[in-house]
Amino acid sequence: MVELKTAAELDAMREAGRVVGRILDTVRRVADVHVSLRELDEAARAVLREAGAGSPFLNYRPSFAATPFPAVICTSVNDAIVHGIPDDYRLRDGDLLGVDCGAIVDGWAGDAAVSFIVGTPQPADSRLIETAEQALAAGIAAAVVGARIGDISHAIGSIARAGGYGIMEDFGGHGIGRHMHEDPGVPNEGRPGRGLRLRHGMTFAIEPMLIAGGRDKYRTAMDGWTLLTTDGSRAAHVEHTIAVTDDGPRILTLA
Ligand code: MG
Ligand code: MG
Repeated sequence: MVELKTAAELDAMREAGRVVGRILDTVRRVADVHVSLRELDEAARAVLREAGAGSPFLNYRPSFAATPFPAVICTSVNDAIVHGIPDDYRLRDGDLLGVDCGAIVDGWAGDAAVSFIVGTPQPADSRLIETAEQALAAGIAAAVVGARIGDISHAIGSIARAGGYGIMEDFGGHGIGRHMHEDPGVPNEGRPGRGLRLRHGMTFAIEPMLIAGGRDKYRTAMDGWTLLTTDGSRAAHVEHTIAVTDDGPRILTLA
């Protein structure tokens, strides 16, 4: 059952999303050569604390995980696609860092992610990230009243495949609201005109995960959480929480 949010509920979700946007801006500012991933998590925790917000990531334990997630952000470096655990690794010049983050405010969840280069970018990495951002923008633009989930998926997948990239299998976007992960799934590839019809008040997290090497497969690291490319190529993950409204798609996770 997909809940349709009222105007007041969408505004409440916007407040959760604003905290998420602020965390991502903060982490982006702090992330630099020699800074550790754990320091980024500490910076994110400070923003949550200051906002009086909760973390849907901390101690999260979905069915695929052997242990609860130990941090408030995921930090995925280079061949890590998603779900990287912030540890004592210190960022190096040219690293491709993906940061995924959530917040809970007044019982409503927000979820968003950015990918960027630390220090000096390589052209291939910049192109990968830009394509992921274009796929996200196209997915959001397709999230209009009367369209279907498949239209979002098709918009994302078309751009990713045209760029020659792999699309991570098994994982994709999702409904969001009172919980971070709700029905329905929003796959990153699909057929237009198929799936749930979109209505005013539906909210989704849309999140392309692109793999530079062109394969869709992934493998799980020894830590049981980090999901890696199988060929060692880099990956980019970007995400926004959005609302479908009569006035068009509304992005809820900007600072
Ligand atoms: Mg996320
Ligand atoms: Mg998500």
